[in-house]
Amino acid sequence: MSETTKPLNFIERIVEDDLSNGKVTQVHTRFPPEPNGYLHLGHAKSIWLNFGLAQRYGGVCNLRMDDTNPAKEDEEYVESIQRDVQWLGYQWEGKVRYASDYFDQLYAWALYLINHGKAYVCDLSAEEMRQYRGTLTEVGKDSPYRNRTVEENLALFEKMRSGEFEEGACALRVKIDMASPNINLRDPVIYRIKKASHHQTGDKWCIYPSYDYAHGQSDAIEGITHSICTLEFEDHRPLYEWFIANLPVPATPHQYEFSRLNVNYTVTSKRKLKQLVDEKHVDGWDDPRMPTIAGMRRRGFTPKALRDFCEMAGVTKVEGVVDISMLEHAIREDLNTNAPRAMCVLQPLKVVLLNYPDTKTETVLGHNHPQNEAFGTRTLPFSREIWIEQDDFREEANKQFKRLVLGKRVRLRSAYIIEAVKAIKDEQGNIVEVHANVIEDTLGKDPADGVKAKGVIHWVDARSSVDCEVRLYDRLFTDVAPDAGGKNFLDYMNPNSLVILRGCKAEVNLAHSDKDTRYQFERQGYFIQDAQDSTPDHLVFNRVISLKDTWEKSAEA
Ligand code: ATP
Ligand code: MG
Repeated sequence: MSETTKPLNFIERIVEDDLSNGKVTQVHTRFPPEPNGYLHLGHAKSIWLNFGLAQRYGGVCNLRMDDTNPAKEDEEYVESIQRDVQWLGYQWEGKVRYASDYFDQLYAWALYLINHGKAYVCDLSAEEMRQYRGTLTEVGKDSPYRNRTVEENLALFEKMRSGEFEEGACALRVKIDMASPNINLRDPVIYRIKKASHHQTGDKWCIYPSYDYAHGQSDAIEGITHSICTLEFEDHRPLYEWFIANLPVPATPHQYEFSRLNVNYTVTSKRKLKQLVDEKHVDGWDDPRMPTIAGMRRRGFTPKALRDFCEMAGVTKVEGVVDISMLEHAIREDLNTNAPRAMCVLQPLKVVLLNYPDTKTETVLGHNHPQNEAFGTRTLPFSREIWIEQDDFREEANKQFKRLVLGKRVRLRSAYIIEAVKAIKDEQGNIVEVHANVIEDTLGKDPADGVKAKGVIHWVDARSSVDCEVRLYDRLFTDVAPDAGGKNFLDYMNPNSLVILRGCKAEVNLAHSDKDTRYQFERQGYFIQDAQDSTPDHLVFNRVISLKDTWEKSAEA
């Protein structure tokens, strides 16, 4: 409980109250993903909240696969979920849990409900059940199967379990109240027949418990104290409590709801993300443009930035949309502090320094971080030919252009001032090379003749530079709310969300750089080697994020 200066969010207040009045002695939370896709930004919020609460209050947090729907689940997702939680910086208590670990117990409790006259096998079809259920303004009708005897129900449920019925032929429902104003309490189904193999239990079961039935009881079995979920489950809370009250469970967990994280310019729904992957609009779940944790990791986002973002977005019960620039800000903040600087020319133009001897090479010293000396320095070779950005040279320009202009001076970062003397063009009139002169004795000094350089540009020594590929990523969608109001999010994909540049020129130090290091390429942005495609022979850098938000400007224009 170190940073107590921050105001508590409403869940922290509940937890502190429960601890101080002795209602709970140790906080025990859980993160319960369904392994039917990769985790996304919204899950990061839930992970941060559940694991963070446990951490802050000296408790523990379980990781539980909510695997009650075998049809859509897969072991690949089970593995990715674990990797993502750990990458975010958290560790679950004990082994990974599965709701399916409790199928025997859940089945026994279903028998308990039947034996106590609180559950029955119902033969209504799904459609008939809907009709019987009523609406928000109309009470429901009792199922004609509601008054089956305990013996009859036990026999039928056993037949469901042993596979004697087809899918949909019948289901087990709890007997609560068909006239309840809360539709969730109108005899909800707790077991369905599903003849599907399960990734954990194989073919042992052909009936599977509903989410509502499995979830609270799994919480009780694990001794969860605070079961945190998103607001859409608020109306399910009475049902959660009904099960806890009507079953001989070993503990009494409580459910608390907070508003889900929604972020503009993106989609956070596993179904839609899966569609992007399946239809190959992106290059897999870990495509660096995806709002999945795997994608954000490959893109080079940091776990700290994601946690900071979750904190900034806050924990409330008010539905809202968070601006994606808040996430981008969190990343820039972290990287500005922690990324060493390097130089890389993305769109190279050669500059020949006419007055610099061809036989000479010297080394200049570059600072690895302008604000933090602890990052140290590095040497940069300097010789007669260098690369600069095409954009950084003009034959003529007004005073706002503080880069290299014919007849004018500019400083090369950490090196000399140079003055451009001639632009060499090809037959089409494109500038292919610039001739310039080094102004003597200007290493770390202004020139003796008093003619200062107006700006500073980055550069790379041509003789020692290494070629690399650079992938510039941008937002995946151009619309602020790509899937709002029934819109098809595929209609709003940003055609420029990935721009690949080849033949970029990196300073030689990057040739043997650590694959996990994020660099600031001076004046360009933050970059990291692509975990999958970058090799020492073919360096590939992903742009994590640009130095400044260019979207705000274009939105104003
Ligand atoms: P999706 O809508 O993408 O299918 P889900 O809610 O079905 O997500 P689960 O695997 O069931 O996905 O979610 C695991 C946990 O993460 C749940 O406790 C859920 O409430 C939480 N969660 C999912 N999306 C968000 C979000 N956008 N904001 C906060 N928590 C979320
Ligand atoms: Mg879910």
